[in-house]
Amino acid sequence: MQRIGVLTSGGDSPGMNAAIRAVVRKAIYHGVEVIGIKHGYTGFIEAEMAPMNLGSVADIIHRGGTILQTARSEEFKAPQGRARASQNVKRFRLQGLVIIGGDGSFRGGLQFYREYKIPVVCVPGTIDNDIPGTDCSIGFDTAVNNVVDAINKIRDTATSHERTFIIEVMGRESGYIALAAGLAGGAETIVIPELSANVEEICDKLCRGYKRGKLHSIIIVAEGAASGLEMGRQIKEKTGFDTKVTILGHLQRGGTPTAYDRILASRLGAEAVELLISGETCKMVGMVSGKIVAENLEEILSGKKEIDMDIYNLAAILSI
Ligand code: ADP
Repeated sequence: MQRIGVLTSGGDSPGMNAAIRAVVRKAIYHGVEVIGIKHGYTGFIEAEMAPMNLGSVADIIHRGGTILQTARSEEFKAPQGRARASQNVKRFRLQGLVIIGGDGSFRGGLQFYREYKIPVVCVPGTIDNDIPGTDCSIGFDTAVNNVVDAINKIRDTATSHERTFIIEVMGRESGYIALAAGLAGGAETIVIPELSANVEEICDKLCRGYKRGKLHSIIIVAEGAASGLEMGRQIKEKTGFDTKVTILGHLQRGGTPTAYDRILASRLGAEAVELLISGETCKMVGMVSGKIVAENLEEILSGKKEIDMDIYNLAAILSI
């Protein structure tokens, strides 16, 4: 193998830069050249591609976002768009592709392999942690820490004013961010899309807490489960409690990646290169119980990452 391409696609996540750095440096270590593809599949189609060297990835391990930038490309979903990208595979003499992104990006990569037979290895990079085959995706830990920081701050004002706070967090259809941040932040209630929520029960719990002398309550709502604003309106209506809603939005996705995310990204990016060099294709690299693994991409895409009920139950017991 002489030359591979690397791109980041879909939503950005903190730690993607550490993954790009690992891909570039591990490839160069093995004498393999790397072409950086900008703006995900858009840049792949439009030939926004250039060689990367050791210096291209200097000083980025601590930076959030992605130096290759990312995009969503409707054109790549169509055969004509992928045909244009395949011209650039020839033009830049690529023999393999590392795709850093979420499941949508992986679907694109798999489809591209089926049509043009260029080996692809995928690296899970999404704050949502909704990809099976890995305990964590790159960016999840940073996002959870961002949410916990916000909970800490909101807790100060919640205590002072004796208020109920609802914090709506990201995660698309997944409750992973809400669950992890809720447990780490000591939230009274966690609402996730995987389990149905009952506003009456939430209100009962709030009332019991206040009767026992709780000064404040923090409710974490995953965006895929309910609208924080709507839930706040209902709780206020049913309990009369002063209920404030904070929607954290994109600040969850920003900032310097945690050490955990940098280590994860470094290990996964490096392994992706190893797999391509050893002739593998249609794999996703992941980390399971501390070990780096390679999973079949097709199986990953047909699976669903289940929520860890032990964590949910523990959070419920500890927040009584
Ligand atoms: P993520 O990778 O974060 O899940 P998206 O779902 O938006 O983000 O996917 C990113 C990009 O991957 C899309 O804009 C599109 O270019 C490509 N893609 C997604 N699904 C497919 C598909 N079924 N076939 C081809 N390309 C796809």
